[in-house]
Amino acid sequence: MLSAAARAQSPSPAAINTPPSESRPPCSDGKAYCLPPEKLPKAQALGHIRTGIEFGSQLWSIAVLLLLLTSGAARRVAVFVERKTARRPLQALLFSASIAAILFLIAQLPVAAIAHAASLRYGISVQAWPSWLLDECKGLILTILLEAPLLTLLYALMRWPWSRRLYWFWAAVFTIPLIILGVFLLPALIEPLFDKFEPLTQSHPALVAQLQRVVARTSTQIPPSRMFLMKASEKSNGLNAYVTGIGASKRIVVWDTTADRMPQDEILFTFAHESGHYVLNHIPKGLALGSMLLFPFFFLVSWLSNHLNLRWGSAWNTADIANPPAAANLTGLAVFLLAFTILQFVTEPIPNTISRHFEHEADVYGQEAIHGIVPNPQQTAVAAFSDLGEAYLDDPDPSPIFEFWTYDHPSIQTRATFAARYNPWTSRGQPKFFPR
Ligand SMILES: [Zn+2]
Repeated sequence: MLSAAARAQSPSPAAINTPPSESRPPCSDGKAYCLPPEKLPKAQALGHIRTGIEFGSQLWSIAVLLLLLTSGAARRVAVFVERKTARRPLQALLFSASIAAILFLIAQLPVAAIAHAASLRYGISVQAWPSWLLDECKGLILTILLEAPLLTLLYALMRWPWSRRLYWFWAAVFTIPLIILGVFLLPALIEPLFDKFEPLTQSHPALVAQLQRVVARTSTQIPPSRMFLMKASEKSNGLNAYVTGIGASKRIVVWDTTADRMPQDEILFTFAHESGHYVLNHIPKGLALGSMLLFPFFFLVSWLSNHLNLRWGSAWNTADIANPPAAANLTGLAVFLLAFTILQFVTEPIPNTISRHFEHEADVYGQEAIHGIVPNPQQTAVAAFSDLGEAYLDDPDPSPIFEFWTYDHPSIQTRATFAARYNPWTSRGQPKFFPR
């Protein structure tokens, strides 16, 4: 993605009718990315809100799971479903669906509402509350449909004699093909549930003709049939474009806000950045790395679950899985979720660092790819990042710890600073992805 902030929908109306790249005045403080004086305080305030939401949401999820266990609520849900049916798989499915729904409604929904309110207040989102609520309802249904079968499988792995000792290993083994299937189906089945897509050629044939110049230079053979326009403007003032899917479902998506409001040179850079993800196989590489990391991650989750159970298992009524030869009970699944959520929070910098690396590579690729197509690739890239940052009110000076921990893209300042300095076409330079 090019997005500054997939983490919070936050483009500002000021991004509309942005001046062409060439007319943006340089920053007075010598930085590559800065905001007009009236926007800077807003971006700083929003930066604090985003920090609070990002960390607060994860800590709140952990707190809700702890509350479910310590109050006995998780145990009561388990007893309830055990009375409803004697069939274990069905018990696990009902328990998992209930816990997934409770977590969505108590842990996620309130935080999402706060984030949406902030996004509306700062003019980034333009999505009305009823439409937002409808999206959340779809999210709830999807969460239950996806998580309940996964947790049921996990529960079976915790109980089957052949798998219970190394259930974390088998959980990772079974999760990998499901993730790949999910990435394959995402663009075709999931994304259209939330947004409208159409072929980019339908409304922007002239733009597609320009994009073909980048396609020719990158030899990506991205045909127009794989270029889509997303009608984002109904919900957001944000600017974005992204690569999604894998194999036959792989495609480049450009938000209509980007196509309609960004100067053309900057769209070409954006597209070239996305082409970089495409050419450099970032999705398959990300999947491969993620799959490898899943094993140590699930091992740590099972290790932490065991420790939690040893310490509090009798109080929570979940002691069984602390002793692998004994079978897990339903409430033990909630302990697994607690350990999972804690470790997801603690290890968050790992996937984010990998993602930032891919994004940086795509930035380099994008800037090299538009060489010879736009007059000044450095200026175009800096202008594109500035428009992106302004659209999302991205703080020009974010806390380095927050950036390290939570950013899946380098900050706009980092990206713009690199772009301003990067010119491999000088006599001593060496382009990374293209011949001189
Ligand atoms: Zn990207």
